[in-house]
Amino acid sequence: MRCPFCNHEDTQVKDSRPAEEGAAIRRRRFCPACGGRFTTFERVQLREMLVKKSTGRTAPFDREKLLRSVQIALRKRPVEPDQVEKLVTGIVRRLEQLGESEIPSQQIGEFVMEALSGVDAVAYTRYASVYKNFREVGDFERFIDEEQLSGPETGSDGGAGPVNTDNTNQADD
Ligand SMILES: [Zn+2]
Repeated sequence: MRCPFCNHEDTQVKDSRPAEEGAAIRRRRFCPACGGRFTTFERVQLREMLVKKSTGRTAPFDREKLLRSVQIALRKRPVEPDQVEKLVTGIVRRLEQLGESEIPSQQIGEFVMEALSGVDAVAYTRYASVYKNFREVGDFERFIDEEQLSGPETGSDGGAGPVNTDNTNQADD
């Protein structure tokens, strides 16, 4: 698998172990070119799914995109990463069980809202309020990207200190 940091073609698997109660395999990978470390998950994909956008265009279903939008809705909420993975896996299972090869993007948004409503009311409200205005999951993502670029959330807590960026090892170049 290609390195996400430096695009080096070949990365090494340092560790593989079951995750999500055996539903996935988690692999820790290492890039010999830049020293970057990242994690991949291997999962069963029961069927190929396409997402049909309201414009009529289709694109391959992308679990990572779905995960990111859910993670963003749950940002700074007291929900463990494992639980987020399970929630997303549950949404994907529901989508697969529809038995359709093309899934309207609205359907995905509705499943996300249903899942979030059972987990965290704040995340649900965030997602639902944005989703109402941005009917496309893709639009929601763009909106979130822009929001992230504009800096940390403006809360009423008067600033909770520096944003804790993750510990990803970046390439030195
Ligand atoms: Zn690399």
